[in-house]
Amino acid sequence: MNVMKEQTPNNKTCSCGYDINDYHIHPKCEYSSFGWILYWIGMSAKPIKVDFVCSVCGEILRSTTEPGELKKYVGR
Ligand SMILES: [Zn+2]
Repeated sequence: MNVMKEQTPNNKTCSCGYDINDYHIHPKCEYSSFGWILYWIGMSAKPIKVDFVCSVCGEILRSTTEPGELKKYVGR
C-alpha cells in the first residue's frame, strides 16, 4: 500500500482533477444489514459508511465513518 505524501484530505483530487466539493463527486452510502431492514420498512437508516465517489472515473476521494458526518446522510 502506497502512502501518499499529502496529509490534507480536503484538497485531494481524483484522476480527473475534481475535488471533494465538485458536483461530479457524489456520496455513496453503505448500510449495515440492519440499516437495510429499516430502509426496507420505510424508516430512515443511518449509513455506516459514506464514500465520496467521482461519477466520471469512479475513484473514491474520501470515506467517512464519523457519526456526526453520517447523520447528514440519513435517509438518502
Ligand atoms: Zn474523477
